[in-house]
Amino acid sequence: MTQVVVIGAGISGLATAYALQTLAQSEGKPLQLQVVEKNDRCGGKIWSRREEGYLCEWGPNGFLDNKPATLELCRALQMDDVLQRSNDNARKRYIFSGNRLHRLPENGPMFLRSQLLSWPGKIRLVGEALVPTRRDGEDETLAEFGRRRLGAEALDKLIAPMAGGIFAGDAETMSVKSCFPRIVELEQQYGGLLRAMVRLARQKRQQRKRGQTVASAAGPGGVLTSFDGGIQQLTDTLRQTVEARGAQFLTGVAACSVEGDPGQYRVMLADGRSLEAQIVISAAPAWAAAELLRDLVPDVAGLLKDIPYAPMNVICCGYDPQQIPCDLNGFGYLIPKQESCSILGTLWDSSIFRHRAPAGRVLLRSMMGGATRPQAADLSDEQVAILVQADLERIMGIRVAPEFLRIFRHQRAIPQYVRGHAQRLADLHRGLEGQSGLILTGNAYGGVGLNDCVANARKAAEQALWLMR
Ligand SMILES: Cc1cc2nc3c(=O)[nH]c(=O)nc-3n(C[C@H](O)[C@H](O)[C@H](O)COP(=O)(O)OP(=O)(O)OC[C@H]3O[C@@H](n4cnc5c(N)ncnc54)[C@H](O)[C@@H]3O)c2cc1C
Repeated sequence: MTQVVVIGAGISGLATAYALQTLAQSEGKPLQLQVVEKNDRCGGKIWSRREEGYLCEWGPNGFLDNKPATLELCRALQMDDVLQRSNDNARKRYIFSGNRLHRLPENGPMFLRSQLLSWPGKIRLVGEALVPTRRDGEDETLAEFGRRRLGAEALDKLIAPMAGGIFAGDAETMSVKSCFPRIVELEQQYGGLLRAMVRLARQKRQQRKRGQTVASAAGPGGVLTSFDGGIQQLTDTLRQTVEARGAQFLTGVAACSVEGDPGQYRVMLADGRSLEAQIVISAAPAWAAAELLRDLVPDVAGLLKDIPYAPMNVICCGYDPQQIPCDLNGFGYLIPKQESCSILGTLWDSSIFRHRAPAGRVLLRSMMGGATRPQAADLSDEQVAILVQADLERIMGIRVAPEFLRIFRHQRAIPQYVRGHAQRLADLHRGLEGQSGLILTGNAYGGVGLNDCVANARKAAEQALWLMR
């Protein structure tokens, strides 16, 4: 019987526990699994709160269907029939620039007609096809990459706001190869992004002609997918399933430290208890893992502590749609830093998914803070409400206070993969070489999206299974 302790029951910890149970069962390996979670509830950043008829997502509101990991997990959990795909209209995404909302162009003709970029900006973007490929392996920031390949205007108005929307990050510090590895791959493989688009589109046409199925690419980066009860339905089902398969959950108690020797660990809990384990998997955030491993592997703890996190306020506003002069048919908008707004953008949640607001009402969810505006974490609720209302008036013409308002705060919302992140991961890997039985997973290392967390959870479970052989 191998004793395994998983620390942290966000999506990463729960998906690791589930994958490990599945793998151990299929290989006939006896497993004693314990999951330790600091909070009373499981789910970590995932928390779907129903309040006054509104369904407010505290953190993520879904996963994209263009990567298989989460969809496969849902299938394994028999959740296919309760999946909710975002509304088709949610493909329309906007950027606020020059005091108006511009629809994000989805094809060539739309790009030419769009007034988001000036003509020099458009010509520079199309000139990307002529930019030489950089092959020195340098860990560029997203801003350096964007300026070099697409020009400063496209960086400011397209690339940087999108980076803010996904990572709450600052393009000037984010490592392009750690945050968007596919983009770097495309440059290396095809010699540029436009060349890659053309070649990939041609490949798809040929595949269709041959009658092969082609992955759908509706909307930028796939279709946002969730559940009627919000994304928390996934973590609730995971917890119930993992528990029903025999794992013990210890909730409302933090793990304080990991002690012992490789393959013979002791996880010390805040209430004085300790858990013996041959394998310990930390699925806690990097800063928490740093605390846990401070005495056992100080060098590793030092590397973990240095992974920065950006704060974020999530502000849910409910309105009577009569009081919103702008068309809410779409996903929402992002805002370039140069527009000097307090918010990073707003998701039109009740347009994206059904049942997010009571009948006759709409729900908007704005994000404030991130790596470019970290001071938002220090604002009072009153200040946050005033600033959001001012931005919603400027951007969407809303002149009234919301009928429903909730402000959710994340002091450390999203880890930042800044320049040097890949080297840090290599150093972490080396630092853990002598600690067989100690595994790190979670969103601080190889991707922050739910798909990345689930895929990396599976890898952590495979690593644990390998140690059980
Ligand atoms: C506002 C916001 C919006 C987002 N939107 C999206 C989106 O739409 N789509 C998407 O794909 N991704 C989105 N993300 C990213 C995604 O939500 C996260 O990357 C993911 O949920 C992180 O999961 P995790 O399990 O790795 O970490 P967490 O969810 O942070 O879980 C870690 C768990 O460890 C626990 N823990 C910490 N310390 C200890 C300890 N000492 N002992 C025991 N337990 C401990 C914590 O309590 C927590 O439950 C968003 C993130 C935020 C903040």
